Amino acid sequence: MFSTTDLAQFRQEVRQFVLEQLPADLRQTIRQGQQPTPLQLIAWHERLAAGGILVPHWPAKWGGLGWTVAQQMVFDEEMALGGAPELNSITFDMIGPVLMRFGSPDQQQRFLPAIASGKQWWCQGYSEPNAGSDLAGLGTRAERDGDEYVINGSKIWTSYAQYADWIFVLVRTERGEKPQEGISFLLADMKTPGITVRPIIGIHGWPVFCEVFFDNVRVPVDQRIGEENRGWTIAKSLLEFERLKLARIGENKRRMARVREIALSRTRGGQRVADMPWFRERFADLESRLIALEANAARFVARQAAGERLGAEVSMLKMRGSRLIQLWEELMVDTLGPEAMPLCRDWLAGKPDAAPQDALAGTASSRRFLARGYTIAGGTSEIQHNIIAKQVLAL
Ligand SMILES: Cc1cc2nc3c(=O)[nH]c(=O)nc-3n(C[C@H](O)[C@H](O)[C@H](O)COP(=O)(O)OP(=O)(O)OC[C@H]3O[C@@H](n4cnc5c(N)ncnc54)[C@H](O)[C@@H]3O)c2cc1C
Repeated sequence: MFSTTDLAQFRQEVRQFVLEQLPADLRQTIRQGQQPTPLQLIAWHERLAAGGILVPHWPAKWGGLGWTVAQQMVFDEEMALGGAPELNSITFDMIGPVLMRFGSPDQQQRFLPAIASGKQWWCQGYSEPNAGSDLAGLGTRAERDGDEYVINGSKIWTSYAQYADWIFVLVRTERGEKPQEGISFLLADMKTPGITVRPIIGIHGWPVFCEVFFDNVRVPVDQRIGEENRGWTIAKSLLEFERLKLARIGENKRRMARVREIALSRTRGGQRVADMPWFRERFADLESRLIALEANAARFVARQAAGERLGAEVSMLKMRGSRLIQLWEELMVDTLGPEAMPLCRDWLAGKPDAAPQDALAGTASSRRFLARGYTIAGGTSEIQHNIIAKQVLAL
């Protein structure tokens, strides 16, 4: 269906696919800057799966098309520009590839087809109240009892745990000499008795992440990935799978288009915002940064295609890409001016009567706050700076 040799033609085909297949209600939700509902997302996953492109970067054996990183990035970009939501990377880019690399044949058969069908949603149980950047300090325990582990403890900041079917969770199965030792990687059905999920409403008004409590939760031993006490290697490998995607080129381009649309449609003191010098200067600055980011990402893609190692400097894509998203969101708020002030919590919580006059303006402040999280999620910017300082600059 999609061209495998000509990237420009491939781009056109993806564009056409999104245009024809993306449901109108979901396109509208994303255009207005709102959070899609789980039902909308699952319906979209299923439509992509029916078109054979939910997990195109996976090998053919597991329902993928073996796309290159370059194809995958074009795909993500066109999806974002066409108004499609970001796909759940925890499910498709993290646990899927982990199962392929470290899972037993039984575990692969059990989970991979379900994930590739778009029906199964996963969440990531790593962070704890006292273990984030210093993840190896985690304290959630799992004690062996015959053929089961009994888990006690709690996780926090677990994205979309309230909707997830399964969780992969890091637990301490032994006190090792080093904190990285004695950690195991378990899978748990979210319906298992003893799991309680408490959503956290963020400053932006959305419940994007949760606390997850484990109270004597029994998990069969065959739901452990890899060896007991050797989960740290698996835990770290997750982050390798999507390092290039963290440049978020498509997400940045989507925001640029949104800001342009707003600036062209708003006037202040009788002048179009798009014609005002302050706006033009900031827009040009961000657009130049985006072009530079895209060129940098292309350099890494070419290196990977040539079979070279990416190296720690790839961390810069995450830092630049996420900072740029924040700057677009800030420009959006400034372009809207006072219109962006309301934080429509009731509307965001699903009360239609509280809808703002202009939906896109109504979510601008929320999205700006939401974007702050990019500094932290996926490894904080300070930690990325440390990595670059030590491993690239040898400081
Ligand atoms: C939007 C979002 C989604 C998330 N989703 C998930 C999820 O699904 N599952 C999950 O497990 N976790 C998730 N997290 C949690 C995230 O992984 C952690 O917040 C992150 O690892 C940081 O940990 P912390 O919050 O405990 O902060 P801390 O590690 O306590 O850091 C606090 C501050 O100190 C700085 N700092 C810490 N150590 C150093 C150091 N050595 N040098 C310099 N500065 C340092 C940090 O950069 C930060 O500014 C999510 C977070 C966000 C924002």
